[in-house]
Amino acid sequence: MKRKRVVVLGATGSIGESALKVARDIPDRMEIVGIAANTNAAKLAEQANAVRPEAVCIVDESKLGELRTALKYEPRLLAGETGLIEIARLASAEMVLVAIVGTAGLRPALAAIDAGKDLAVASKEILVMAGEAVTTAAQKQGVHILPVDSEHNAIFQCLDGRASDVRRIVLTASGGPFRNTPLEQFGSITREQALKHPTWNMGPKITIDSATLFNKGLEMIEAHWLFGVEMQRVEVVIHPQSIVHSMVEFADGSVLAQLSHSDMCFPIQYAVTWPERVANSLPPLDFGKVAKLEFFTPRYDDFPALNLARRAGDTGGTLPAVLNAANEVAVSAFLDGRSSFPQIWKTVREVMDRHRAIAHADLDAILAADQWARDEAHRVLAA
Ligand code: NDP
Repeated sequence: MKRKRVVVLGATGSIGESALKVARDIPDRMEIVGIAANTNAAKLAEQANAVRPEAVCIVDESKLGELRTALKYEPRLLAGETGLIEIARLASAEMVLVAIVGTAGLRPALAAIDAGKDLAVASKEILVMAGEAVTTAAQKQGVHILPVDSEHNAIFQCLDGRASDVRRIVLTASGGPFRNTPLEQFGSITREQALKHPTWNMGPKITIDSATLFNKGLEMIEAHWLFGVEMQRVEVVIHPQSIVHSMVEFADGSVLAQLSHSDMCFPIQYAVTWPERVANSLPPLDFGKVAKLEFFTPRYDDFPALNLARRAGDTGGTLPAVLNAANEVAVSAFLDGRSSFPQIWKTVREVMDRHRAIAHADLDAILAADQWARDEAHRVLAA
């Protein structure tokens, strides 16, 4: 089997770093031909000097000089949002891994599909926002969408192409750091407490989303689009150990689950080597040490994110984009110390209540709804 040539968008982030690690671990199967980041020129240069990809892109054009100076070879240098689109279409690439936090990955993802590349998707926001547009474009172009989010990668492995026999999809959630925190204490939760995830080491935005359970809410909508399963058949169970990454119950009542340590290298590697499995240096599960696997029903009333996401996914159209955008604004306000933890749910609910959803929205309508929701969320937070 030949090496897969991959472009990594969001190389300097948590997923991006794991992707580079996977490439180092299975060099016969994965080659990184392009890397892109937003503003972190120093880290991007360091990665480029080590990996030597053919193309390097920095979105923040003011950092181009710093990047150029720090590079020890002469790759094709790209910058700005146009550069990001260009690197997503890189001729030599077969796959583009979208690991950009937020919705900035949407246009490059569509550009990659248009250029006939397979898409490995970590950025759940783009499937939440524009699941219909992205999956339809991929079908039209005959390219694959490989899920990198660990839950969806698990479901993808369990399904093994048998989507028609599914009774329900069960997404596991660690429950985050406040799984057992009494409701009365939510108002005093600090940024530092929320950034301490019990089982996963991730970027700040997704770590806060894990604490509010919006991460799981976004994943419910993501699963709906990736696997073509209606929202009512996508369920969530709290599993504090984060060893079972998700499960599929089939028509005959059998449940298949995928298990591994909580390390994003597992799903990234499977997305790259699929449909094959390749030996690596990742640690195997020691069941004696795992000892117990627990499952609990989520506290739906105390963590309203799941019901809000179900409502957004059921309504469809522009509402998922509105939920996602309002959440992004609310999370960044919380991270900047401008709002309380429960304010994240309140802001999203308020913005969703004010929105008039457009069904089967095209990309322009989605982007307009996204912008509207951001402005509206700022107004809610300022009130
Ligand atoms: P990080 O915050 O660690 O990294 C984000 C990356 O995106 C950085 O490389 C950053 O560049 C880049 N970036 C940010 N904004 C832009 C932009 N406008 N244009 C181009 N690049 C940009 O995030 P994570 O790695 O944690 O998450 C990335 C995505 O993967 C998210 O959508 C998240 O939900 C998803 N995900 C993450 C998991 C995890 O374990 N971390 C698990 C499952 C999904 P710079 O460094 O220059 O700012």
